[in-house]
Amino acid sequence: METFWCFNFRLYGAENFLNFRFFMSHKLLVSVLAISLFTSFKPVTPETVENSPVATNAYVAPVYTPLPLGAIKPKGWLQNQLQIMRNGTTGHLDEVYPKVKNENGWLGGKGDNWEETPYWLDGAVPLAYLLQDKTLQAKVLKYINWTLDNQRPSGYFGPITKDEREKGIKVTAENCEQGEDWWPKMVMLKVIRQYYTATQDPRVIPFFNKYFNYQLQALKKCPVGKWTEWAESRGTDNEMLVQWLYGITKNPFLLELAGLIEAQSFAWSTWLGNRNWVIGAATQQNDEHWMRRHGVNVAMAIKAPAINYQRTQDKKYLTALQTGFTDLMTLHGLPMGIFSSDEDLHGNDPTQGTELCTIVETMFSLEEIIGITGDLRYADALERMTFNALPTQTTDDYNAKQYFQIANQVQVKRGVFNFSLPFEREMNNVYGMRSGYTCCLANMHQGWTKFAQHLWYGTSDQGIIAVAYSPNQLKANVGKSNTEVTINEITNYPFEDLITFEISTKNSANFPLQLRVPAWCQNPVVTLNGQSINPQPSGQIITINRTWKNKDKVTLQLPMTVTTSNWGRNSRTVERGPLVYALKLEEKWEKGTDEKEGDYWNVFPKSAWNYGLLQDIVKEPQKNLQVKNTKPVANNFVWNLANAPIEITASAKKIPDWQIVNSVAPQPVTDRTGIYRGTVEPTVEKITLVPYGCTKVRIVAFPVVPN
Ligand SMILES: [Zn+2]
Repeated sequence: METFWCFNFRLYGAENFLNFRFFMSHKLLVSVLAISLFTSFKPVTPETVENSPVATNAYVAPVYTPLPLGAIKPKGWLQNQLQIMRNGTTGHLDEVYPKVKNENGWLGGKGDNWEETPYWLDGAVPLAYLLQDKTLQAKVLKYINWTLDNQRPSGYFGPITKDEREKGIKVTAENCEQGEDWWPKMVMLKVIRQYYTATQDPRVIPFFNKYFNYQLQALKKCPVGKWTEWAESRGTDNEMLVQWLYGITKNPFLLELAGLIEAQSFAWSTWLGNRNWVIGAATQQNDEHWMRRHGVNVAMAIKAPAINYQRTQDKKYLTALQTGFTDLMTLHGLPMGIFSSDEDLHGNDPTQGTELCTIVETMFSLEEIIGITGDLRYADALERMTFNALPTQTTDDYNAKQYFQIANQVQVKRGVFNFSLPFEREMNNVYGMRSGYTCCLANMHQGWTKFAQHLWYGTSDQGIIAVAYSPNQLKANVGKSNTEVTINEITNYPFEDLITFEISTKNSANFPLQLRVPAWCQNPVVTLNGQSINPQPSGQIITINRTWKNKDKVTLQLPMTVTTSNWGRNSRTVERGPLVYALKLEEKWEKGTDEKEGDYWNVFPKSAWNYGLLQDIVKEPQKNLQVKNTKPVANNFVWNLANAPIEITASAKKIPDWQIVNSVAPQPVTDRTGIYRGTVEPTVEKITLVPYGCTKVRIVAFPVVPN
């Protein structure tokens, strides 16, 4: 009880001190400050524990274990998506992007020695092994080899530092200040961890171990935030990797190190559990502590409570995770499944933007959260952002991207829009390779690749679980007999509701096969070898535990019904299963060139976009929306208008006064019942909606008009 009280008090003191100071007398202020300081030095929570020993039995093994890279082979449309990336920037960034191409610091040169090269590798490594592409494997191996081979005797690693070059010394824990930023190393460790699961390269574990020994000594003199606030705001990734190694070696010093990094980094678990942080982010959009509201930092930080739970077994972190994620999506959430981030959290108005890095980092955070907690609500969230927010933000060839996408994106062009940053560039919304900031150009490769890699996980009873669906082939060793089985998952999900699993195995094998039931699906139907079986889902999981034989076949049908959901400023979105639907608008693409940021594209709609949905659709969506499968999903499927396999027809009326102001379409004001009461054109028109991910210009958050 006392612990809880102190914990709360610390939150109050640390985060809201500034807000409250104006309301306090000086005397009261001093006493609050004193108590606050006192409690913040008291080791009552893992955030405040620095060097106190951590009980080694506090570590919780993941509920679901990620499978080694290479176990899952993408098929169908997903394989095509990855092949496009291999032929585009993911496979060739080092040839087309001077910053990575020239004198790369991660190959010993004087060029990029910070985040962009590791960012690229963080997607290129999984791609190389998912596609079993020898050329790309050889390419990424150069950077991994250089990094492993050039670890300093002290354990320090990474590009040669300025002092090392100029003074001919090597970084040690004693002279750690001659090292450089902790942050890009966190990304490189993520890269090497993936490489290790694919290859079991014996150099990797000693490399990690040596570096973490170095870190434990060096952090006392050169804390996480010594060089950049980026490292301080992203320490969770460092902890995640330390705890991954602990899961393998069980060496107690690793838990001490993870606790130390947590203590020196931003207190995300506290903030996510403390509702004042997210409310403040919705209302105070200035430059004070903006790193705490920067969307990419938040995307990475969402997993912080899960990482702390893994180290401590303290369930309060699971509560903080749920509170934080729900609050974030309530106050800043957008219909396509992601929160606003342009560059900071910016509320839930459908005119706000989201950075591409935010999407891919949130996806990765959710993949980690699902493994650690086994909570499949986060898999629903993962599918929603993957199948809706992600595809629209890159071009068909994966060579150009938007820095910020907008939910109701009625045009793509240069301009200031509703973004909190930055005014002078005006290149944040266009599609370009080097437009906006280039972090996304380097970081966007981890989205699809890691999603493919996390379709399946292992379970603690030697079974497997499908947590997200897409066409693929899985090879895994299962059951007490550790039998190798292959499962072909045949489906065009998310565009169809039927998923078939065909099992091939030389020897029969007893193991549980688990299937996630999305929260939107009320009546899943399962068959086994043609016979209907109706296993009762436990929560969101169907388990089929049996002795599996060659050619066994399971089908899972997840019937999808049309519904509408409520979003910012009383807008409504049509959704069906994992997909949200947006107004189909034929596109006019216009090329431009910026002196500094290169070639880019604007996209304009060829027809009107200012429609409101009829009230009847909200009342009875299934009766008033017509769903049509318009074309099969081809194996060379690309997320664009020409390929959109499903259309929904809806009745709508034009709102003549709904027009572009400052490049965006400000949401029309509704009354309390959610109905727009201004002038509406009397003619009812049939409009066509297509999957959001297939659109570049669109309305997805509709006003509602009287019938
Ligand atoms: Zn970015």
